[in-house]
Amino acid sequence: MGEAAPLPPWTEPAEACLAALRGARAAVDRDEPVAVDDLPPAAAHALSLAVADATARRDGRPLAASLAAEAGLDAPATAVPVNATVGDGSVDETVAAAEAAVADGFDCLKCKVGARGVAEDVDRLRAVRDAVGDAVGLRADANGAWRREEAERAVDALGGVALEYLEQPVAAGDHGALRALRGRGVPIAVDEAVNAPSGAEGWPDPVEEHADVAVLKPMAQGGPGATVAAARRLADRGVDTVVTTTIDAAVARAAAVHVAAAVPGGGDRAHGLATGGLLARGVVDDDPAPVADGRIAVPAGPGVAGEAFDGVV
Ligand SMILES: [Mg+2]
Repeated sequence: MGEAAPLPPWTEPAEACLAALRGARAAVDRDEPVAVDDLPPAAAHALSLAVADATARRDGRPLAASLAAEAGLDAPATAVPVNATVGDGSVDETVAAAEAAVADGFDCLKCKVGARGVAEDVDRLRAVRDAVGDAVGLRADANGAWRREEAERAVDALGGVALEYLEQPVAAGDHGALRALRGRGVPIAVDEAVNAPSGAEGWPDPVEEHADVAVLKPMAQGGPGATVAAARRLADRGVDTVVTTTIDAAVARAAAVHVAAAVPGGGDRAHGLATGGLLARGVVDDDPAPVADGRIAVPAGPGVAGEAFDGVV
């Protein structure tokens, strides 16, 4: 069972994904090999997940165990914490959403910033910190919205907020600004800078001089195995990996839970996998990887989720 959930700018557009999968199917029909690495990322994710799921099921073990073993990593976590995403509303709306998420059991929150101006965003984050206390992890994601000077102003003003990290403060290609923001008291995470479709600028290099944390989306990385391998390389350089989706449907989201459990230290930090509620409807009635109390248990059946997806076309 695989899934492609193409979502530009993270991946190729849906039409290109479909064309790539049709081409792969035609190659299989002709008994020709398919070079998965040459496919665009969402199409590559679909095929590599299908192979990884089949392999894990054949071996009678969960996908996470299979991925960890293949990458030479320790046994995976059995559950991963997840963050709640708090939107970009006013100060009062942001505080209310943060308090509701904490009441739901989340102990890590991610606030969207960049839509309201630096001063207001700083006020929003300070208000959330005051409201939820010091025990709750707090992250902010600007999605590349700030110019370098704005990002510097934000970082310098956020010193007392104890942000876990500020994600993609500046545009993906502005590697110089990322580097300049390091060491000013707020850890920096990259997302758009490391999940761009082929053809965009490469990763900041060396990555550890530009970021403390890398947010990896398996759908943009070309599959579960590619993501775990990237996380291992990052860990060797001292950069932590947080796993998120591109608002995937249930199959890829469950697979991403396995990826999060398999990456180094994956059970110890919150991931961006509480995204199922963003879809109007799911591909199955019973999500095999639901969020409960701010965590997702890794599905224990063989492969992605045992037989939970059998019959889903
Ligand atoms: Mg992000």
